[in-house]
Amino acid sequence: MPKPFTLEPGATCDLDKIDSRIEWEQHNKKTAYQQIEKNNIEMALLARKLYAENKRSLLLVLQAMDAAGKDSSVRCVTRGVNPRSFQVYSFKKPSERELEYDYLWRIHRQVPRKGNVGIFNRSHYEDVLIVRVHNLVPEEVWSKRYSQINHFEEMLQDSGTTIVKCYLHISKEEQRERLQARMDDPDAHWKVNLADLEERKFWTEYREAYNAAITRTNTTWAPWHIVPADRKWYRNLVISELLLNQLRAMDPQYPKSERDYRGIVVE
Ligand code: ATP
Ligand code: MG
Repeated sequence: MPKPFTLEPGATCDLDKIDSRIEWEQHNKKTAYQQIEKNNIEMALLARKLYAENKRSLLLVLQAMDAAGKDSSVRCVTRGVNPRSFQVYSFKKPSERELEYDYLWRIHRQVPRKGNVGIFNRSHYEDVLIVRVHNLVPEEVWSKRYSQINHFEEMLQDSGTTIVKCYLHISKEEQRERLQARMDDPDAHWKVNLADLEERKFWTEYREAYNAAITRTNTTWAPWHIVPADRKWYRNLVISELLLNQLRAMDPQYPKSERDYRGIVVE
């Protein structure tokens, strides 16, 4: 099965050296989506057990440049699951109210409750990405955040939340093509955000910020996975496999009931 790139904790991340487009012989678009469909069936069962067990949770964090496909991959891996046990949350620019608190306040409130799978579409990492690129706070503030994030994630892990972090890795050229396709298609105009074109001008600065974030927060308790994302089906299959394997490893169990109800006849 296709796998994301991972780095040893402490290793320096250099995204320029990691392929964003992978040739994969064993799968093509059609077989990839068939596999994802199968995965979703198993995932739904495991998520059901996790919910019944009601002790632990799983958090998938998605980060990427615009048009890398965070939304579509969420749609793909949640197809067919029970919405009761999935919590998807998209973090936008913080509101006035959110800015009245520390940067992790709004994040902590959206962490999946016990028994649930949570997906963050953007996350606390924005506070060391866009915030760093545009100097939204001084360096002495954002530079402390890497270790704060590591501690925060360790605390979540110790509290029963397994964290899987994915960076959807697209090339600058692939982003250009996808943004251009949106401009050219009136039915895609609702997705156009001219601010994306502005952010694109900071590609190099974002690259640096991502390399730093991945290098400094790639911990044993919350490792980063770099998902080649120039091919959509490949990206979706990698994320699907990652999520499924994590749930399998957690091996959730239906709770044992205190009594054996078999033999009781309902009249
Ligand atoms: P997305 O771009 O995630 O698909 P969207 O296009 O629906 O979502 P946007 O208005 O682009 O919505 O919202 C996301 C924007 O908010 C991004 O530019 C992101 O960098 C920014 N953002 C998220 N968190 C923060 C933060 N903590 N501080 C500043 N900006 C943030
Ligand atoms: Mg956007």
